[in-house]
Amino acid sequence: MRPIQVTQSSMPNFEEFSEEIRGLWESRWLTNMGIKHTQLESELEHYLKTTHVTLFSNGHLALEYAIEALNLTGEVITTPFTFASTTHAIVRNGLTPIFCDINPNDYTIQVDMLERLITDKTSAIIPVHVYGNICNVREIDRIAKKYKLKVIYDAAHAFGVTVDGEGVANFGDASMFSFHATKVFNTIEGGALTFKDSNLRNVINAFKNFGITGEETVESVGGNAKMNEFQAAMGLCNLRNVDQEIIKRKAVFERYMENLRDIKGIKLSQAQNGVKSNYAYFPVVFDGFQLSRDEVHAALKNENIFSRKYFYPLTNSLECYQERFSPDETPVAKYIAERVLTLPLYADLKLEEIDRICGIIKAKVTSIH
Ligand SMILES: *Cc1c(COP(=O)(O)O)cnc(C)c1O
Repeated sequence: MRPIQVTQSSMPNFEEFSEEIRGLWESRWLTNMGIKHTQLESELEHYLKTTHVTLFSNGHLALEYAIEALNLTGEVITTPFTFASTTHAIVRNGLTPIFCDINPNDYTIQVDMLERLITDKTSAIIPVHVYGNICNVREIDRIAKKYKLKVIYDAAHAFGVTVDGEGVANFGDASMFSFHATKVFNTIEGGALTFKDSNLRNVINAFKNFGITGEETVESVGGNAKMNEFQAAMGLCNLRNVDQEIIKRKAVFERYMENLRDIKGIKLSQAQNGVKSNYAYFPVVFDGFQLSRDEVHAALKNENIFSRKYFYPLTNSLECYQERFSPDETPVAKYIAERVLTLPLYADLKLEEIDRICGIIKAKVTSIH
């Protein structure tokens, strides 16, 4: 039987992509805001139901540049239950991450705890829409207004998600989306920033291109984080198919639910009120199950099925931060990180394969009885 990876990148038909890139052999315009780039930006504004989208070579740089463009200083409140990127982006900007714990049910930032962490050095909150679960955006908004803090969402997992019909890109001052190969929508590598203040467009567009604003003018100390035309072409093709991909992901998600719903010691994600999901991940928390998370991970690997301990380790326990932060500050995040496993989920995962994966997990229960 073929190995099952935790994810498999969405790709258009080869012919569809070749057709999309054909023009590049005539224009010879391969990067620097070409026509594919311009088109993808405007199509994404439409798809994400938002007004300002700017593309990046990857999601991480979009976040780093957003932090710089919004002039954050001092301390930034965030969570450790995320990919290394979120914390690194704060630290690489010379700022101090202050770790807030997460909710035990949706793994997003615990808003009740936020106000206690605010000091006179706090400039912003960078919450994460983990697994596509949406943070308590209204309460974060209220607190941010009260203390005059900026909010940048790490929305890497939340492509296309809506809350009461509103695009998730519209919350906070800015949101970062990742279009990495493993995400629901990909441009091979890539990302985007969405933002509220239209004045930021010129600032951010200059930042991602060395600060260049005219043929002979360089107004800021920018870097290079431009998306190229091949990435944008991949994006245009994948965007045409993304709704279909999400429908297929939903079927995978529901098959897992049917299989695992009633098993003791297995905690599954719950749908959030008013949220239209993108079915990005299938996280399972083994909490009082007969086997530990690590044992389930190993049992699946034994059958050539690759699940992922995501997110583990927490970013506040990474080697590079050992002297500075500790996972003990965030006990709920620590508890979840030790028990969570994301199971394989991608549009073309077959229903029989899901049954087989779940069968391996369930066999561990029945063998005891
Ligand atoms: C993927 C991801 C990123 C980084 O995005 P890249 O496009 O890979 O740079 C940041 N945060 C989270 C939560 C992610 O999952």
